[in-house]
Amino acid sequence: MANMGDALDGILVAGAGIGGLTAALGLAQRGRAVTIVEAFEAPSEIGAGLQVPPNACHVLDSLGVLDELKKKASVPDRICLGDAVSGRIVLSLDVNRDGADDGTYLTAHRALLHGVLYNAAMAHPSITLLAGHRIVDVAEGDDAVTVTAAHGGDRAELNAPAVIGADGIWSILRHAVAGAGTPQPTGRIAMRAVVPAPAGAQANAVVAWMAPHAHLVTYPVRNAETRNLVAVIRGTTGKTSWSESIDLDTLEHLFEKLDHTPYGDLNDHAEWTAWPLYSVDPHGQWHSDRICLLGDAAHGMEPFAAQGAAMAIEDGQVLAKAIADAGTDFTNAFKAFHAARAERVRRVAQRTAFNRFTYHQAGIGRLARNLGFRLRPASAFRADLDWLYGYRA
Ligand SMILES: Cc1cc2nc3c(=O)[nH]c(=O)nc-3n(C[C@H](O)[C@H](O)[C@H](O)COP(=O)(O)OP(=O)(O)OC[C@H]3O[C@@H](n4cnc5c(N)ncnc54)[C@H](O)[C@@H]3O)c2cc1C
Repeated sequence: MANMGDALDGILVAGAGIGGLTAALGLAQRGRAVTIVEAFEAPSEIGAGLQVPPNACHVLDSLGVLDELKKKASVPDRICLGDAVSGRIVLSLDVNRDGADDGTYLTAHRALLHGVLYNAAMAHPSITLLAGHRIVDVAEGDDAVTVTAAHGGDRAELNAPAVIGADGIWSILRHAVAGAGTPQPTGRIAMRAVVPAPAGAQANAVVAWMAPHAHLVTYPVRNAETRNLVAVIRGTTGKTSWSESIDLDTLEHLFEKLDHTPYGDLNDHAEWTAWPLYSVDPHGQWHSDRICLLGDAAHGMEPFAAQGAAMAIEDGQVLAKAIADAGTDFTNAFKAFHAARAERVRRVAQRTAFNRFTYHQAGIGRLARNLGFRLRPASAFRADLDWLYGYRA
């Protein structure tokens, strides 16, 4: 356990999640000492699948962990959009094309992505992890930030010259940043399950089946026989538990619409976990003089563009570079980080909102959407995604 009043020379990272581990590795690669304070005692298998698009894979490659991830992740060959009502695919884009310069697109269980980052961080001599320490209070002074963490029945106080708040959507660190955004319920829930791939499924594709007011995304995790399902439907829950207000009719309705697809009969077999969807306005403050938020803590997003983990990964890398460039002038480093990231994150948030509008269309809007997708050449869609997947943090 950390001792009362421990003073750290290096940077304190709050949270050993996807963004916190990326930032820690990026800093350690640049010769900086890092202490990570994390609530969990050990990484868990909690969670389901994540998409790891080329913009994230580029960062993972520069951190030296992409090859390890590729050994166990799935490598899809297509991203498709399907109309659940008719069971027809309306758009199909090839990814991981031989000889193309598109970068790597992977899908994986979150625990796998987290595991490769975690193992690399634990192997690095400049990174120390205080596991089982839940941060309960933060106070910023002129020269240092004091972080109080609960560990069992004890409390530890740590003083660091700068703190990165990578503690996720329910960030404690954001309370110490005046004007930071706060998580707002979106009125939607992500229902997640991992299931054996049904016969005839598009084995190696990421497919989003769009239905009125709901959609289902499926992709391989671990191997082509295991698929991740994410259904986004209307409803609200408590932070982590089911409640009466989940609109199970919407889930039933979604699966009725999926009858024409290989996923129509999965609802009976899938063991769903419900994740209420919250978002954090990216226009809020991201930093004070000595505390900087990243990832979900700064700008949590709904999963309509499948970029939540990727944004945390990009943030971690850009923030590590900004701190390395600014030496001990953390305020300037955080300003440079915000300047480099704000427009990008806002654009991704806009794309997320656009996809939500498009995917959940009903009636005439649905027909117009499908027609638009069919008429527009795939090359135009690909060019439209260059800014998203081609970004190199
Ligand atoms: C256990 C878990 C499972 C998930 N599963 C999925 C999934 O299946 N699919 C999906 O799309 N997204 C999932 N997510 C969310 C996804 O990982 C994030 O939205 C995304 O990666 C952004 O990363 P982040 O680094 O900002 O936050 P996260 O990856 O959520 O990391 C935040 C970290 O901070 C730690 N933390 C939080 N509060 C404190 C505190 N007070 N003191 C110390 N540490 C703290 C958390 O334990 C966590 O390790 C999951 C998140 C978690 C924590």
